[in-house]
Amino acid sequence: MQEINSHIMNVGKNQVVSITYELTVDGNVMETVKSENPLTFLFGAGNLLPKFESHLDGLLENDPFEFKLSSEDAYGSHNKDAVVSVPLKAFEVDGKVDEDLLRVGNTIPMLDSSGRRMNGIVLEKSSESVRMDFNHPLAGSDLHFKGTVVGIREATTDEIKHGHTHSDKNCDDCNDPDCDHKD
Ligand code: ZN
Repeated sequence: MQEINSHIMNVGKNQVVSITYELTVDGNVMETVKSENPLTFLFGAGNLLPKFESHLDGLLENDPFEFKLSSEDAYGSHNKDAVVSVPLKAFEVDGKVDEDLLRVGNTIPMLDSSGRRMNGIVLEKSSESVRMDFNHPLAGSDLHFKGTVVGIREATTDEIKHGHTHSDKNCDDCNDPDCDHKD
């Protein structure tokens, strides 16, 4: 029989959870998060894909996990309309185009017409235009995650209020440039 211990914590809402994992797509490793630098996040605050979180819900510290997310539950399908030709002129700075920047496969941060940041991957370059893919790099991919829960703690009141974790008690240390709750 298992000993009942009131200090045992399960992964759940308003807890700060640390995990290590390996992400593979079609057997290729896309991302490795190791215990030296685990992914730490506030559970249930919309920081990660909802389906990702639901697979971790209720786990204990040191519990392993392994699951697949279909592209619909992850970054969606690959949208053909997000592959566009951008005139080469758009990349000119002082009348010159940085050839290094426009190498095929490079990811270039750009702004759309409403000023939102988006990343485009260079697919092809001609003398007049650059074909770029603005889909999420993992769009259209089924994601396979395998990892371990390496830490669970109660979130602080501030963390719950802000919707993210703080490395220290002070929000100035949360390193989140989007945090508008700094006091
Ligand atoms: Zn904060």
